[in-house]
Amino acid sequence: MVSKRVRGDLEERPEMSLPVLYLNYHEIRVEKSPYLYSLPADEFDAHLRLVRAAAVDARAALRITFDDGHRTQYETAFPVLTRHKTSAIFFVTAGFTGVSANHMTWSQLRELADAGHEIQAHGWVHRVLPTCTDAELDEELRRPKETIEDRLGRAVDALSIPGGRFDARVLEACRNAGYLRAFTSELWPPAWEQNGLEMFSRRGILRRTSASTLSGWMRSGGSPTVGARVLRQMKAGVRRTLGDERYHRLWCLLANGNSGPISQAVAAADCAWPHDECGNGLR
Ligand SMILES: [Zn+2]
Repeated sequence: MVSKRVRGDLEERPEMSLPVLYLNYHEIRVEKSPYLYSLPADEFDAHLRLVRAAAVDARAALRITFDDGHRTQYETAFPVLTRHKTSAIFFVTAGFTGVSANHMTWSQLRELADAGHEIQAHGWVHRVLPTCTDAELDEELRRPKETIEDRLGRAVDALSIPGGRFDARVLEACRNAGYLRAFTSELWPPAWEQNGLEMFSRRGILRRTSASTLSGWMRSGGSPTVGARVLRQMKAGVRRTLGDERYHRLWCLLANGNSGPISQAVAAADCAWPHDECGNGLR
C-alpha cells in the first residue's frame, strides 16, 4: 500500500488504494547519453506526468526510486520532481557521497530531504552483498545507515540491495542492522515478507523506457509479460554459466558500448555502470 506520510509540500495521490509499483532510475541527463541506464530529462518529465495522472483504468500506482546517488539526480531530476510535486526515494552509496565528483554531496542530500524526499541506503561502497565477508557485510549495512542518519538527522530504515543480489544471510544481516524494508531488482510480486523484512520488487528504467511502457504497467497492475519473464530467466542462466565477473564484463559491454578496463579505482571514482548488474566492478 502507498505510504500515507505527507512530506514537505509534496502532495498525496488520489489512488491511495492501488498497489504500488516502484520504478528504479539511475541517471537523468539533459544531453543524450549512450549509457543504458541514462534517461533523457524530457522523457523523465513525461514519466512524471503519467505518475501524477489518476488514470481511471490504472491497476497500480507508480512510485519513483533512484539508486547510487549520481549527481544528475540532484542537478536534473530534482527540479522535475519539484515541478510535478512528486516525491522519490533516493538510495545513496554513502561512501561515495561528497567524495566522488559524480555523486551528490551531503548538502545536496539535505536539500532533497528538506524538500520531502526520502534518503535511504545503497551500501557503503556498493559491494555485492552475498560475496562479502562478515566484516564487509557489516560495513555495507551499518555504516551507511549510521552515516546518513548522523549527517542528515533522519531515520534510515530502507536498503536498496546493490546489484539486486541477496540471500538469507544478507537479509538476516539487514534485519540485524536495523533495516525494515529492502528494495530489490526482482520483477514480481510487488511486495512480500522475507526474513522479517518488507521486500519490494522494482522495474529498472532504461534509456529507452517510454511513458507508454509505464502506462502499460499501470494498466496491467505490473504483472510481467511472458517475454519479460523469459528474458529474466535467460539472464539468470547466462550469469550462472559465465560466473559473476565475466557476466559483469559482458553487461558493461552491452550497457556502455565498450567493456573498458574494470578497475576498482575508476569504478569507485566514476561509478558509471548499471549498478543493478555491475557490483563486482566496485569490489
Ligand atoms: Zn547501484
